[in-house]
Amino acid sequence: MAIPIPSRMLFIDGEWREPVNKKRITIINPSTEEIIGDIPAATAEDVDIAVNAARRALSRNKGRDWASASGAHRAKYLRAIAAKITERKSELAKLEAIDCGKPLDEAAWDMDDVAGCFEYYADLAEALDAKQKAPVSLPMQTFKCHILKEPIGVVGLITPWNYPLLMAAWKVAPALAAGCTAILKPSELASVTCLELAEACREVGLPPGVLNILTGLGPEAGAPLASHPHVDKIAFTGSTATGSKVMSAAAQTTKPVTLELGGKSPILVFDDVDLDKAAEWTLFGCFWTNGQICSATSRLLVQESIATEFVDRLVKWTKNIKISDPMEEGCRLGPVVSAGQYEKVMQFISTAKREGATILCGGDRPQHLKKGYFVEPTIITDVTTSMQIWREEVFGPVLSVKTFSTEDEAIELANNTHYGLGAAVLSEDLERCERVTKALEAGIVWVNCSQPCFCQAPWGGNKRSGFGRELGEWGLDNYLSLKQVTQYTSNEPWGWYPSPEKPKL
Ligand code: NAD
Repeated sequence: MAIPIPSRMLFIDGEWREPVNKKRITIINPSTEEIIGDIPAATAEDVDIAVNAARRALSRNKGRDWASASGAHRAKYLRAIAAKITERKSELAKLEAIDCGKPLDEAAWDMDDVAGCFEYYADLAEALDAKQKAPVSLPMQTFKCHILKEPIGVVGLITPWNYPLLMAAWKVAPALAAGCTAILKPSELASVTCLELAEACREVGLPPGVLNILTGLGPEAGAPLASHPHVDKIAFTGSTATGSKVMSAAAQTTKPVTLELGGKSPILVFDDVDLDKAAEWTLFGCFWTNGQICSATSRLLVQESIATEFVDRLVKWTKNIKISDPMEEGCRLGPVVSAGQYEKVMQFISTAKREGATILCGGDRPQHLKKGYFVEPTIITDVTTSMQIWREEVFGPVLSVKTFSTEDEAIELANNTHYGLGAAVLSEDLERCERVTKALEAGIVWVNCSQPCFCQAPWGGNKRSGFGRELGEWGLDNYLSLKQVTQYTSNEPWGWYPSPEKPKL
């Protein structure tokens, strides 16, 4: 069912504006390989215009005072945006599915999460008003201290393509709730729904400049945003390699960054699990969103005593997954996002074969789909810890399997990675789950499941998966600066220097 892609421009200072160089980027439907529209390609000049608009919107002395407005005032806009997303949920889900290839049911779920995220941060914006002037107790009676939580300022938000609108919401909602003004730079591979977020902001009358949305290529639009001297903070989600570049660029003006980067997360399956339940979570943990999830539990560690039976079951379940155009009813696996990503995933699979691994199922393009960037869900065994497939993030539907005999061995194998985003432990023994959870080097641990994510709980990783936490109250803190206010309350002079008026004794 074809749906037209709205033709949009850049969203700057509350208006649609053509990019200075008038260039556009073609959009390709990953299921059909057809050109379905285009998006504007911003460059450094557009970034500069947007940053100036965001600064004006922040400023208290020009009558455009997003930063000093009450949290309750800002919350009204966040709720209005949430309502617009909900009103257009079905259309937005279709646009998302066409643009990045995720199954329509997943895209619809994302839209609920997007609206929920704006609602949640509207609540936190309101609560922020009551938290102002939090007192700090001091050891000296002659001083009084309190804390003001203030918006950091103008923030640059750079996001990836796997959850295009949801990743934007995770940043935009808390940034605006905190009183920051923002420039969002979504991924050039999937920007369509982010431009519809701009339309929602326009419709609800968000004050000009509070949120600016600039589509464009990473080096042309993302890099100048990261290094811009009048941007006060960068929040980035994407690959570890780009995150490192963004951090270097931000370092030039010593602006703080939060980095949500890649992963190679383990899932540990112990021999006391219900095999069917564990099989379904294992597949969901790796093949959800066509395998393009930063926290995908793509390294399966299964206890030796159940390994053969469990892996057989995984293969049977995998062969039953419906792979189709994301718009088809019941689709559970669509294409990966682009020709480049397809090539990359296929390269990983061929390198794994060359290095001696065995492809248990999948490993190719599905026979029934002649067009589109489809990759069969793939399970790989006979993997060693030095193989690329075990060590590096594939970002496609590929699960690698290894066995372990003891709990200690499982933990050692799980932690033997540069990444530290997610991990999952599956066992009926909850004491064991607790022990293993503590030992795992990861920012998120799922127990007897993999991937569920709630905007109330902190999200983020360790090691090369980045630092800082999004979501929950920690997500709001990302955009707040603490101001210490200390007042001298004594009627007596401080008395450190001798007074020239008083004679020396
Ligand atoms: P990417 O790093 O290629 O791009 C991310 C964003 O950075 C895009 O908007 C891109 O245009 C921009 N960019 C590229 N070069 C830039 C530069 N030099 N300066 C500034 N911006 C630049 O990542 P991707 O391919 O879009 O997304 C996939 C990656 O994102 C995976 O590694 C995945 O693990 C990671 N990811 C992490 C999380 C998380 O929460 N940790 C969530 C989703 C995705």
